[in-house]
Amino acid sequence: MSSYKYPDAHGYYGRFGGAYIPEMLQKNVTELQAAYLEIMQDEAFQKELDRLLHDYAGRPTPLYLAERLGQQVGTTVYLKREDLCHTGAHKVNNTIGQILLAERLGKKRIIAETGAGQHGVATATVCALKGLECIVYMGEKDIQRQAPNVARMKMLGATVVPATSGSKTLKDATNEAIRDWINNPNDTHYIIGSVVGPHPYPDMVARFQSVISAEIKEQLKTKTGNELPTHVIACVGGGSNAAGAFYHFLDDAAVKLLAVEAAGCGVDSGKSAATSVLGRPGILHGSKSLLMQTEDGQVVEPHSISAGLDYPGIGPLHAHLFETGRATVLNATDEEALVAAFNLAKLEGIIPALESSHALAALQTQQWKPDDVVVVCLSGRGDKDMETYMARLENKL
Ligand SMILES: *Cc1c(COP(=O)(O)O)cnc(C)c1O
Repeated sequence: MSSYKYPDAHGYYGRFGGAYIPEMLQKNVTELQAAYLEIMQDEAFQKELDRLLHDYAGRPTPLYLAERLGQQVGTTVYLKREDLCHTGAHKVNNTIGQILLAERLGKKRIIAETGAGQHGVATATVCALKGLECIVYMGEKDIQRQAPNVARMKMLGATVVPATSGSKTLKDATNEAIRDWINNPNDTHYIIGSVVGPHPYPDMVARFQSVISAEIKEQLKTKTGNELPTHVIACVGGGSNAAGAFYHFLDDAAVKLLAVEAAGCGVDSGKSAATSVLGRPGILHGSKSLLMQTEDGQVVEPHSISAGLDYPGIGPLHAHLFETGRATVLNATDEEALVAAFNLAKLEGIIPALESSHALAALQTQQWKPDDVVVVCLSGRGDKDMETYMARLENKL
């Protein structure tokens, strides 16, 4: 039986993936392809990773039985509390893994791209932890929109470099980071923040995030005697929290995997980030995947109320899962996500990130059976979104 988990030797999941990179990056990427699995599977590496995930990031995160929410939707609902991770979301699982890998590769300088700043903060955090130089590329427009995260990165010792080309957002920041890597091939490691980019990044990031589903399995087994839920729901920007939440269930066909994309103002509104529905195969940032693009292949600027889902592509693993029908793609609008966020706050006393609220919104739109066991990946906490929530409270949104 073939496995959904692993790409082939060239980094392909079905027809998606690969490493479409300029000649100048070949050396860096080939080095990483050759080294990552051996390093990650090394016993001393695993031990150090486990220690930091436990003592620094705060793992394992709880699997919480949300009784009042479950009553509301008529089934059993568990929340995987990635919102309780250090720095407020799942992203630190990946940056801890990659900083240890960079260390093993002898790299002294770390670069990253960031949109809303969450990945930038998670990267700046682990660079401080390890005393490594950190340069974060961020669109000029995002720097203005996300002042608190820019301040966090600076306080953590990172240099934030504005990307001033194009739309001055995430896509442009990523282009700047790639350019930096080309110019600094020997001493620099590029920490990509999701299951996107050239092979081996999608596989490497999925493995670092897979701790989420490893814990879910163990925790469900303890709580219910059965390690398999009937459904796992996660939101998808690039797809890293979903990849992590799905990973150890990918080869259990009985577990239904529901990926929720941001429909923004509506899938057909022209203002959305519903990549799988609207996207066509194309190449972005080093891999072949589904991509929102115009007839002549120009990348379409996405829209979502949540900055973390505002990406025109998805990781190649997800494109493959959707194309083969292994995962089902749902979507939630800005409005549905807002309603779901306030609903969770009132019912369970948990203020979720706007991204995670898309996964919670899907809980409301699906039909459940009383004996279903549904796990929702609560990818992050809502502190960063209070400005949006305040606008809602003041009836301005
Ligand atoms: C960044 C982010 C996401 C989206 O990224 P994925 O790679 O799709 O997981 C989702 N939730 C939160 C809280 C985030 O910060």
